[in-house]
Amino acid sequence: MSELASILLTPIEYLKGVGPLRADMLKTELEIFTFGDLLEHFPHRHIDKTKVNSISEINPQTDYIQIAGTLLNYETVGEGRGKRLVAQLRDRTGIIELAWFQGITWVVKSLHVGSDYLVFGKTGFFNGKPQIVHPEIEPYVRANADGKNFLEPVYPTTEKLKARGFNGRQLGKFTYTLFSLLQPKDIPENIPSEVLEKLKLMNRFEAYRNIHFPASVQLSEQSIRRIKFEELFIAQIRLQLVRLQRHKVSRGVVFEKVGDLFNTLYAKYLPFELTGAQKRVLKEIRADTGRGHQMNRLLQGDVGSGKTIVALLSMLLAADNGYQSCLMAPTEILAQQHYTGLSELLKEMPVEIALLTGSTKAKERKRILKGLLEDTIHFVVGTHAVIEDSVQFKNLGLVIVDEQHRFGVAQRARLWEKATVPPHVLVMTATPIPRTLAMTAYGDLDYSVMDELPPGRQPVTTVHRYETARASVMDFARTEIDKGRQVYFIYPLIEESLKLSYEDLMQGYEQVKSFFPEPKFHISMVHGRQPGVQKETNMQRFVSGDTQIMVSTTVIEVGVNVPNASVMVIESAEKFGLSQLHQLRGRVGRGTEKSFCILLTGVKASKEARERIKIMCATNDGFKIAEKDLEIRGPGDIEGTRQSGALNFKIASIVNDKALLELARTEAERIVSEDVELGLAKNLQLKVFLHSQKRKNGWGKIS
Ligand code: ADP
Ligand code: MG
Repeated sequence: MSELASILLTPIEYLKGVGPLRADMLKTELEIFTFGDLLEHFPHRHIDKTKVNSISEINPQTDYIQIAGTLLNYETVGEGRGKRLVAQLRDRTGIIELAWFQGITWVVKSLHVGSDYLVFGKTGFFNGKPQIVHPEIEPYVRANADGKNFLEPVYPTTEKLKARGFNGRQLGKFTYTLFSLLQPKDIPENIPSEVLEKLKLMNRFEAYRNIHFPASVQLSEQSIRRIKFEELFIAQIRLQLVRLQRHKVSRGVVFEKVGDLFNTLYAKYLPFELTGAQKRVLKEIRADTGRGHQMNRLLQGDVGSGKTIVALLSMLLAADNGYQSCLMAPTEILAQQHYTGLSELLKEMPVEIALLTGSTKAKERKRILKGLLEDTIHFVVGTHAVIEDSVQFKNLGLVIVDEQHRFGVAQRARLWEKATVPPHVLVMTATPIPRTLAMTAYGDLDYSVMDELPPGRQPVTTVHRYETARASVMDFARTEIDKGRQVYFIYPLIEESLKLSYEDLMQGYEQVKSFFPEPKFHISMVHGRQPGVQKETNMQRFVSGDTQIMVSTTVIEVGVNVPNASVMVIESAEKFGLSQLHQLRGRVGRGTEKSFCILLTGVKASKEARERIKIMCATNDGFKIAEKDLEIRGPGDIEGTRQSGALNFKIASIVNDKALLELARTEAERIVSEDVELGLAKNLQLKVFLHSQKRKNGWGKIS
């Protein structure tokens, strides 16, 4: 293998025509260090040399265009920053101006008045005349009549490289040289042939050659499809290996029976009948934890689908088998609320539960740590404080991470240290994640979906109002409060400045107060600057119905459960992301009363913001919203996925290549479940490839 791979590991300076100086530029600007890196620097488009437009066709709607003509003249004009090079190019139909602001010295060297040039670029109009700024330009050679190699690759490059005379087409000369050195054995196949045949995929060497130098548009498309599939497939194989090796190899504590604790709560203290989805998920959890391998499950459920009770019943299952559990929440408010809620349900039962957060007093903390070590405390609810090193358990069997999917591989790994046999892990999401994202970023987890809301819920009605209509919104809130309901007013957290957010909130508070001046109205206010205790008290007053109005920043966002609240007013709604808006809206509609969400915005909201508001008004379905969010923002921006590495695809995209991803997933799952060691002859090439990559990227560290 090392022999096979060797040519691609050759440092880029050894490629004919590159040399040390250019090599340095390629390294710093494009991270091209070796022949292999150059091979994987794919063109972002191809120029069809046979397709040349006329200058007279250009109009204000024209975007990119390719023209061929004779250079009439050129000159540098202006001084200092305004200095530019302008040239005139003429074809049979007209004249166009070309302009450069950078790299002038280099461009001038390549221009010869009277010669023919092929020019490509984005057209614009300057003083009413068509112009191309920073065009790609090269001597014009008519394409061969046979049309061979008429698709010339253009590569992504940087402004700096362009300024040094390195444009997107020059890189193609290097790639061309590289291919003259390569043979099929240098780019060995890594996808099993049965998959290639089944999905009609091009072989690897052909695909790499055609993605750079396609002989036809069709071959270009086929090569792109093959390489996208390869990226997705290899990533899926890795995730499936992690998942199934854990199933086969890793030990896990065994919850073998459903005992008294589970049954008692279920029969006596559960205030409602479980939904079908809740029952199904509990069954999945039971099966997982009874098998003797460690559970790593992601529970996806929309806001309000009732994840908390699933968590509690799972914890009781652990307790029935002699194991402790820990429930982690993202905020103190939520941890506090879980603690209160669970304590209430458990009050007649022989289970000790404790709350551990950053603001737990030293003495109480000491008591809890001791209790956990001695197993006199069975359940601990808390924030991240719970995974600190000082927290040790006697017998930890289950860890539940609530309302968070940010709990990455590294954090999960810390839990291993808390018990000799790793505890089971259940991660419950804050908001649904699109399936494609779940498959890639969390593909090493098993996952359950709770796609059913408890009975009797009415969908929340969502409307958009301008801030100018605030008075009528307040009137509406008043009528709801008069009916005995409660209302939230949420203000955005201004990321750059806590101080500004605070001022915003204070102003909001004063404003709300001015609309509800009568003494019968009580207002709670909660924000990030308050000490924990004060936050809790204010929250608690709202929970108990003591206050009818909650004014808060987004600290309230996640998890909070006050079923009597029926109105959610979101101020400056244009400043919130989709999943955040959906989370916030999920704070109402939790009881049987009809609920409302009112999105207030200024008159001037951006196009994207208006799009978000529109989606919110159109659907209550968290899974649909998550899909839209992914489409609008792209995977890189979805919280917690940036560092996951699982999404670093060169050309595949989980937004645009869903179908291909599904295929890659299916094939990877099948192959790994049939041959987890990849020991079968038909999987040998794949195994060899994974090993070579492991060395290259240090992937081994992650799994
Ligand atoms: P989330 O999935 O958003 O965490 P919660 O666990 O907070 O949802 O549950 C939302 C509300 O629904 C709570 O008031 C909870 O008591 C209630 N609930 C949960 N399951 C059921 C059920 N099966 N039937 C009726 N109400 C339920
Ligand atoms: Mg919850």
